[in-house]
Amino acid sequence: MKVAKFGGSSLANAEQFRKVGNIIKEDKDRKFIVVSAPGKRHDLDYKMTDLLIDLAEAYIEKDKYKSYYITILDRFTKIVSELGLSEDLVTDIENHIQSIMQADLSDEARIDSFKAVGEDSSAKILSAYLQSLGIKATYTNPKDAGITLRNDPHGAQLEDDSYAKIYQLRKQDGVMVIPGFFGYTKEGALTTFSRGGSDITGAIIAAGVQADLYENFTDVDSVYSVNPSIIENPKEIQILTYREMRELSYAGFSVFHDEALYPAFQEKIPVCIKNTNNPSAEGTMIVAEKAPDTSNNNCVVGIAGDAGFKSIYVSKFLMNREIGFGRKLFAILEDEDVSFEHAPSGIDDISIIVRESQLSKEKEQVIIDRIENELEADTVTINRDLALIMIVGEGMKETIGMAQTATNALGDAKVNLEMINQGSSEVSMMFGIKSNGIHRAIKSLYRAFFE
Ligand code: ASP
Repeated sequence: MKVAKFGGSSLANAEQFRKVGNIIKEDKDRKFIVVSAPGKRHDLDYKMTDLLIDLAEAYIEKDKYKSYYITILDRFTKIVSELGLSEDLVTDIENHIQSIMQADLSDEARIDSFKAVGEDSSAKILSAYLQSLGIKATYTNPKDAGITLRNDPHGAQLEDDSYAKIYQLRKQDGVMVIPGFFGYTKEGALTTFSRGGSDITGAIIAAGVQADLYENFTDVDSVYSVNPSIIENPKEIQILTYREMRELSYAGFSVFHDEALYPAFQEKIPVCIKNTNNPSAEGTMIVAEKAPDTSNNNCVVGIAGDAGFKSIYVSKFLMNREIGFGRKLFAILEDEDVSFEHAPSGIDDISIIVRESQLSKEKEQVIIDRIENELEADTVTINRDLALIMIVGEGMKETIGMAQTATNALGDAKVNLEMINQGSSEVSMMFGIKSNGIHRAIKSLYRAFFE
């Protein structure tokens, strides 16, 4: 039994809905379908979710919201009519939006409810379309599917007891179409995951029903070893472990939502990334474990990089002997509500890498002052415009010379290394460089490991 999740580009217009319909029809094992809101039809287009957020904000600000309202309904009308489905579906969507406008909700709850209209409508349209193809399909609201969430400033989190309820969905026959991206709290309030969160719903359903496979349909044939906008036709990855995928998506691979794999990972459900526009391509399998690749001496599966980091550099003579230094340092970050990404350290110094979005100019100064005064540090400086590059691959820990190959490649590209860190899991090696060298660095690393 398979759970198939279709992303926004797979449902951007009626033609895409038809492709999705064929894919579902082709394989009777595809029992649970999770959908995103319609995505962009072309580069200059808008995602439905962005339009809904614009509508929500304009409505709340008592601004002119009509144009968003019309654009949203027009897009759904076009999809519904081109699929030859009943206009009642559009009336239903319109009533849904009207009911959100009239409901007695906080601004935040109203925005969440607006945001969910995209996924909810996609699911209703797809299930009607599948019925028109003669498939026994039903729309299932996340509340009925058992997705119970708790609010969290970083996006909703699943309540653990949800899985037992989701497991019961196995009893249902026919195809179940479930909207991604949202669920309900125990009190019955609608709440959404962070952006891109339909992937999370897909993985939750796959884990909950104990699927044999979780298929994630997107618009690429596979996961590539490096971002194709940096290297033309990069090597396709056939098989990846969860840990490798996690490291790659953390460092800028946008195929997957960062945390999305976790539910599937916990239950060891294999994941397959596939292309809605080319469903016969094999895709990329993501599994708990894989046999080491002995075909060559290269265990690197991918290279990823992301800009937008800063580091806080702290030095103090004999830091290594001062008991509690680390705790006090991290307590200051905690007080200032800053989360950190990595913290490579030396005998007398430590660098704490944080995302730029975590550290405003004002916070920077407060943190510097506190570290200087409370910890009596010798130096505290901020290093800005950093990018992190990761080379990722299981088996790196057993392979000699990986760091050398990488640092030589960076040297060849005339990229100065600000820091280097081999994660404790040894699935990845991280290089901190100045952001302006990111493309040069990735190209050179790709040549060194893949060509
Ligand atoms: N529609 C939502 C977004 O654009 C969720 C998703 O597509 O996964 O973020």
